[in-house]
Amino acid sequence: MYDVVIVGGGPAGLSAGIYCARARLKTVLLEGANLGGQVTTTDKIENYPGFIEISGMELIGNMEKQARRSGLEIKTFTKVHKLTLEGPNRKVCAGDDIYPCKTIILAGGQKRSGLNLAGEDGFIGKGVSYCAVCDANFFKEKRVAVVGGGDTAIEDANYLSKFASKVFVIHRRSELRATKILQESAFCNNKISILWNHTVEEIIGNNHLESMIIKDVKTGENTKLEVDGLFVAIGSHPHTDIFKNIFAMDEQGYIKVDDKMRTSIPGIFAAGDIRLTPLRQIATAVGDGAIAAISAERYINETASIC
Ligand code: NAP
Repeated sequence: MYDVVIVGGGPAGLSAGIYCARARLKTVLLEGANLGGQVTTTDKIENYPGFIEISGMELIGNMEKQARRSGLEIKTFTKVHKLTLEGPNRKVCAGDDIYPCKTIILAGGQKRSGLNLAGEDGFIGKGVSYCAVCDANFFKEKRVAVVGGGDTAIEDANYLSKFASKVFVIHRRSELRATKILQESAFCNNKISILWNHTVEEIIGNNHLESMIIKDVKTGENTKLEVDGLFVAIGSHPHTDIFKNIFAMDEQGYIKVDDKMRTSIPGIFAAGDIRLTPLRQIATAVGDGAIAAISAERYINETASIC
């Protein structure tokens, strides 16, 4: 019987794990793939206090070391497929294994959304990518495009410009959503051109992406843009498919919590990008994880004293 099962091994889950382990709660963290989640796809983090500049891999590596040193049990490539929540003893199911527990912290984060274009899936790994840090190396001296206007798109464009000969940012509006400091670096990078008020309509190629049809949304005019790579950075959606109709969520599937990270079910907490929040940053995810851990500890103490 675990005190806490943490589902997800990004910054929120690892932070929750460090706090739970230090509180001497019997805790296991289950992660469906490698630790780190979306952070490991970030080349350079400059806004996590205490680190002037650090890569996502290095930051997660440090968090993992700290968590293991605190005594946290971590299981990677352990994908959770079901929660059984009736009664005081809950169960988390992953593969053939069942983890009985008193509380659960959901910290599964989110994954990048696709454009939903015809043939998009077939071009994955053949020109279409959702991770600039993973795939930029394949596009040395090639022409690439990034779709989106948020922090991810502009960070990706800046990163890709170190490899590609030309980077087009295709954005559907005439203003970027990205943080001003990221915008400034893109605006003064002569490899990056921003195609304002454009959307991607079609992706074309034999075996590998060769070109795209982009549309000027103001004039309705379509043009062909020759590129070898397309990086999709139009936002993300939460990993909550298996939790539908269990917890209160918003229409996009983000889990609603109160200021103690309590979900609509007592004893189940959510932290980080998976929850409905006004800001999705590593700093906020780490804070959420700490709060969720302390709330889980209090819940265990309170329910034990009732029994
Ligand atoms: P985001 O902020 O939601 O931005 C998504 C962008 O894609 C927006 O510019 C949006 O256009 C565009 N878009 C959405 N749907 C589209 C569609 N169907 N077709 C074309 N364009 C579409 O997502 P994000 O950039 O992934 O960032 C997610 C969160 O992580 C944010 O809170 C962000 O601040 C944070 N983040 C922070 C950092 C950092 O601090 N360094 C780095 C990465 C991410 P509109 O602008 O027109 O809506």
